[in-house]
Amino acid sequence: MSAPFPFDNSYARDLPGFYAPVTPTPVAAPGLVKVNTPLAEELGLDPDALATPEAVEMFAGQRVPEGAEPIALAYAGHQFGQFSPQLGDGRAILLGEVVDRAGRRRDIQLKGSGPTPFSRRGDGRAALGPVLREYIVSEAMAALGIPTTRALAAVTTGEPVLRDRPLPGAVLARVAASHIRIGTFQFFAARKATDAVRQLADYTIARHYPELKDATEPYLALLNAVIGRQAALVARWLTVGFIHGVMNTDNMSVSGETIDYGPCAFMDAYDPETVFSSIDQMGRYAYGNQPDIAHWNLARLAECLIPLLGEDKEAAIAAANGALKEFPARFRAAYHSGLVAKIGLAGTDGAAEEEDVALALELLSVMAASKADFTLTFRRLGAFAADPDAGGPVRDLFLDREAFDAWATRWRERLASTGRDGAATRAAMDRVNPLFIPRNYLVEQVIAAASEGDFGPFEALNTVLAHPFEEQPAFARYADLPPQMEGYQTFCG
Ligand code: AMP
Ligand code: MG
Ligand code: MG
Repeated sequence: MSAPFPFDNSYARDLPGFYAPVTPTPVAAPGLVKVNTPLAEELGLDPDALATPEAVEMFAGQRVPEGAEPIALAYAGHQFGQFSPQLGDGRAILLGEVVDRAGRRRDIQLKGSGPTPFSRRGDGRAALGPVLREYIVSEAMAALGIPTTRALAAVTTGEPVLRDRPLPGAVLARVAASHIRIGTFQFFAARKATDAVRQLADYTIARHYPELKDATEPYLALLNAVIGRQAALVARWLTVGFIHGVMNTDNMSVSGETIDYGPCAFMDAYDPETVFSSIDQMGRYAYGNQPDIAHWNLARLAECLIPLLGEDKEAAIAAANGALKEFPARFRAAYHSGLVAKIGLAGTDGAAEEEDVALALELLSVMAASKADFTLTFRRLGAFAADPDAGGPVRDLFLDREAFDAWATRWRERLASTGRDGAATRAAMDRVNPLFIPRNYLVEQVIAAASEGDFGPFEALNTVLAHPFEEQPAFARYADLPPQMEGYQTFCG
């Protein structure tokens, strides 16, 4: 049998001192949950070779695949604003990298594969529930077109993990553009290891921003580029109602992918103050705070890069501040254009744009006051755009129907003024407003069933979420208004 992964491990090769070699710890009884066939194909791997008993053993950590150089990466990070100089992969092991069919280098990492030198007090393991949550939500995000780490496979371990009670254990095989976090820069910056910070910055540019290699000020260009990707990413989160839940600097990837699906959740009723994470008591990582937190995190990255921005420290700080200052406007531009598209007014002339943004923001206010379902409001608005008699279903989502009517009258006038065909407007809206998202109650149902050994609901939910923008009559119930989940909480896993 040929090696399942054609590994080429640049991080291990180019960045000695940035990680600790470590071998996955075997588990009692590996069992395959799922291999992500389309992703395997995208990676240029043979999906059949990944479902063999040997491959399952590899995903469980029983054996190290040929060509892998398993390592745990060092990183630091601000967690809820408090700096920890040493975190690191405490329960994740990077097996190595493969270059996918499109020529992109991707990390293959096991999460939950046993202790590492960075485990601190943790057991290095993951419970089945959080592994399935990450599988479902990260794949849903990918299907929504949002940059994200992916799930290549999940296996059960046949071992319990001890949380507040014993839970079934699992391992996730995760795929990422890389696992370089803001916290990776912080690890070396905190140790005043400027050469290491520069080495990491050079590696990051080569891997994620190769177009910047010959820039006159490559490190300032890197900061600007990461700011741009984070601004765009958080804007995408907001336009689908996603709450990351734990935007610590160690959970922000410099590649611009969404990473760490611990306490994440999608919002049902629109409320910018929504928080689900049990440990986020102050609402630091609330839905509506996410842009400000991203900005704060980027300031931490900027601090790490200042020593690379020139001899003159004052000038370096000014340059970093100049870049950071642009974040709010860059975020707003991305967010506002996303919102305008959601109400069917993308691509209108420049003069109207500001009014269209105002119109979209007013809808959000009406939704908040009326506790309207975020996803269904926008989706059902599409039908109303195409047919003046189809306003009932969206209107019914609002407690204050008159407030909706008042808004809708102005919106319909504006749509009419564009002269566009209603069906075309609806089609454009349906391409950006998903019908299916990983509703919290569905994710909980999947986890409860899987904990009893029934993976049918997991398979079904995955299947539905692979096509979030398409009507799927056989799965219509997955798009129903969700049950009220007063006090719903998520956990870091
Ligand atoms: P997270 O909140 O998922 O970003 O985790 C924060 C840090 O704690 C990371 O460095 C993890 O590697 C580490 N960690 C979380 N859970 C465990 C665990 N069960 N065992 C060891 N380390 C862990
Ligand atoms: Mg993390
Ligand atoms: Mg986590």
